[in-house]
Amino acid sequence: EVRTRFAPSPTGYMHIGNLRTAIYEYLIAKSQDGKFLLRVEDTDQARFVEGAVEVILKTLNIVGLKYDEGPDIGGPYGPYVQSQRRSIYKEYADKLVELKGAYYCFCSKERGEGLENSSQSAAAPTKHHCQCKHLKSAEISEKLSNNESYVVRQWIPEEGTTEFHDLVYGTVSVANSELDEGVLLKSDGLPTYNFANVVDDHLMEITHVVRGSEYLSSTPKYNLLYKSFDWDIPEYIHLPPIMKTAEKKLSKREGDASFEDFISQGYLPEAIVNYIVLLGWNPGTNEEFFTLQELEKLFNVEGLSKSPAIFDVNKLKWMNGEYLRRLSLEEFNALALPYYQDALGAGIDVQKVSALLQKRIEILKEIPEKIDFFKSLPDYDINLFVHKKMKTDVVNSLSNLKAAREALTALENWDLSELEESLADVISQLGVKNGQVLWPLRTALSGKESSPGGGVELAEILGKTETLRRLDIGIS
Ligand code: GLU
Repeated sequence: EVRTRFAPSPTGYMHIGNLRTAIYEYLIAKSQDGKFLLRVEDTDQARFVEGAVEVILKTLNIVGLKYDEGPDIGGPYGPYVQSQRRSIYKEYADKLVELKGAYYCFCSKERGEGLENSSQSAAAPTKHHCQCKHLKSAEISEKLSNNESYVVRQWIPEEGTTEFHDLVYGTVSVANSELDEGVLLKSDGLPTYNFANVVDDHLMEITHVVRGSEYLSSTPKYNLLYKSFDWDIPEYIHLPPIMKTAEKKLSKREGDASFEDFISQGYLPEAIVNYIVLLGWNPGTNEEFFTLQELEKLFNVEGLSKSPAIFDVNKLKWMNGEYLRRLSLEEFNALALPYYQDALGAGIDVQKVSALLQKRIEILKEIPEKIDFFKSLPDYDINLFVHKKMKTDVVNSLSNLKAAREALTALENWDLSELEESLADVISQLGVKNGQVLWPLRTALSGKESSPGGGVELAEILGKTETLRRLDIGIS
């Protein structure tokens, strides 16, 4: 059975790259009828941020990545929070020392004591190996019984190379002399990521380890750990970074938006997921729109790419607009309502406004600025009526508006078809172009150069009294 895990560190927000990893992990499992689980990697207490676990749970829930095992729902391989697995790491660290895959190091971390950077020493090519590696077992026992504080360091063979296969990057091989003998278990008894990920992936029977390519260079060390324990090595799938430009990675720390930021700007989770899936995965067809349910069937590892993808916010916006248009009017209206607040004013038919907006906006956050004129007509300059392409100027606009006002005043039924008919009559009687009536009408009603909907639609929504009042302002 395929088993994947999402293993975020609770450091505050959901980075777009993390979310992509989670989605791929979920899809790799689901496309093969496997299990997807959530493991919280909170052993780096210095980076822990209060509330961050909740952000992770909430995000997975919003996007619909349902995990089969995890901290809040449990499962047969728990606990799923690393800080609750201390004793497990200790046990395996001790075992690893016995297996000569690690050694106790009693040097003070602060002083870096005992660590020798052996690039200066021709005899010992291993990077950062410590004198403690050579302690006799009697010395070790003595220090342990004296309760001397220690860390457990990985034992790296001084010679040879370590190789691993990655489903995206192919075979990667590194000289062991390049690998440093990093800390596996800290003096406070907590493991480092480098140790915990291996122990947990093994114990949780993870078959596919999916993570960012920044872990490629450490993976040989993990392989050495698997080998020391004589454990099966999982499939590795490393993912290329998501870039902001050809040179720069997308980074929340540099102000790039996180998942929460996009949600609060009124992007739909479905659109974000759809867009993110395509950052590094090629479906093999020209189809660009996928629901999560569709992806659960057709996702495949072969479509993953190792070339970095550029995050194009405009493309995401466009896609979000397409998602908005695919909603029913009721669904759109429900999503739009919070953005209306009291911006519409009394007597405005909200559904009609929604119908106009649904055709035109890309993200919900555009709404307030698009509808502010409904409640009160902004001050505008008479030159707003001048439009070269529409062939309008101040003089013809004012006289056409007067004619339109007269015709509309006489209307008995204030609905779209009557409004259209009556304005069409005005246009033909005056012998002018459509735009020469409709442009000044629309701008007089909105006070703006652009508005959702044309003059007829705005007039219908504003109602007769308000429409005539605004035309009077325009004409005066
Ligand atoms: N906790 C690691 C991170 O958030 C997980 C890496 C992995 O998936 O192994 O980067």
